[in-house]
Amino acid sequence: MPLKLPDSDNDYLPVTVPRSDKPVVPVSPERVERLRQHLLETLRDLRKARRIDRLVSSVSPEPDGFRSVVARTACSLCRGSCCRHGGDEAFLDERTLARFRVAKPEITDQAITRLYLDCVPEVVQGESCIFHGKRGCTLDRSMRADVCNRFFCGGLSAYIRSNAAPEPTVIFAGEGEKMRISSVLVPPSGDGARTTARAVGRYRAAARE
Ligand code: SF4
Ligand code: SF4
Repeated sequence: MPLKLPDSDNDYLPVTVPRSDKPVVPVSPERVERLRQHLLETLRDLRKARRIDRLVSSVSPEPDGFRSVVARTACSLCRGSCCRHGGDEAFLDERTLARFRVAKPEITDQAITRLYLDCVPEVVQGESCIFHGKRGCTLDRSMRADVCNRFFCGGLSAYIRSNAAPEPTVIFAGEGEKMRISSVLVPPSGDGARTTARAVGRYRAAARE
């Protein structure tokens, strides 16, 4: 049964996100080989492009200020539920790889491929992207497909897009007994008086109603 948030007299803003629960597993050589093949084929196709500079995908910045704190906390509690779609190719396409060619035209396909292979962690979250390590994505933002930089799931996206002034915020990741709950994140200008126990107590009480 979905848990219910208190709907009145809140002293914090709830942000709900999913939660990934898979144990970490070693990366198999077959997965690494599929990534290698994908990169080499994509780079080969990229050579056919006439205007690579027009292809280059942007590198979207992280949210700024307090929203960045909320987003990082949410993604770390969720442990990358959305990354399960990354598979062995991690959304790396011509537009992403074109960044390397434009920045350094003499770089070889093998060198670009090596840069990515060196980022594959030894163990990854089960049933997730090949770059989804124990502590999150092992690729620098400049190496990720921009869909990875831009994407936010429903609850987090609504929060990021909101123009409301920063206020004390609590992240709820997942549902039921295994839910992960953050401490109360307080904006720098907040009074800092809220406590995790109080927030959790209110949430649990509402869930029992
Ligand atoms: S964007 Fe949402 S689903 Fe993806 S890692 Fe962050 S909290 Fe999890
Ligand atoms: S490249 Fe990183 S952000 Fe993108 S799906 Fe894989 S682990 Fe997630």
